[in-house]
Amino acid sequence: MTIEFAYKPKVIPIEGEEISFAVRRIYCVGRNYLDHIREMKEGDERDPPFFFQKPADAIVPSGTSVPYPSATTDLQFEGELAVAIGKKGRAIRAEDAFDHVFGYGISIDLTRRDRQFECRDMSRPWEAGKSFDHSAPCGNLVRRATAGNLSTGGLTLLVNGETKQKSDISLMIWGVADIIAHLSAQYTLEPGDIILTGTPAGVGPVVPGDIIDVVFDGLPKLSVTIAPPLT
Ligand code: MN
Repeated sequence: MTIEFAYKPKVIPIEGEEISFAVRRIYCVGRNYLDHIREMKEGDERDPPFFFQKPADAIVPSGTSVPYPSATTDLQFEGELAVAIGKKGRAIRAEDAFDHVFGYGISIDLTRRDRQFECRDMSRPWEAGKSFDHSAPCGNLVRRATAGNLSTGGLTLLVNGETKQKSDISLMIWGVADIIAHLSAQYTLEPGDIILTGTPAGVGPVVPGDIIDVVFDGLPKLSVTIAPPLT
């Protein structure tokens, strides 16, 4: 016998369609733009990509709000391209990687920067800094059949209309295909998985009342408001 709970997977709308994408896992790539590695004063610029996860129910849809999280006084945004997986695979070769891509969206890797640095400095896992409720806003997905095999595209993040991050995914150290190759060497990827591909320079704090917009060429805008903490 199994006790069944009422939990339903979080879903991301597919742009222009009635159906949504149910999320299984959220993987994130650390340190994937040189300018961000340098602003974080981290020296391992040639290392292979590394990965961490967020809980699948951390997804927040565009047009809604994110309560300011507990246990931090330094909530920061990281605008990132998100890749949605649509086909199972492990040990995927880079040349086959796009076959496994369902589509793309825009995401924010929300970070408790104070907790992240504390974990880093104590050589502890990043969970407290990265893996918390509401930490993965994600905009509507566009299918790969429409968007293609993405290797370029401008990514811009604005807070209250002011540009904070402006880059291009062609500047990622590890592109979409390489990320999938490396990640699938560690985990079996399944339909429903989402990969946040890393952030460029310009990360910074937000406070309740701030509006974060992220835009990427060809994808629907992601917009969330930071709300007061939950009481
Ligand atoms: Mn990130």
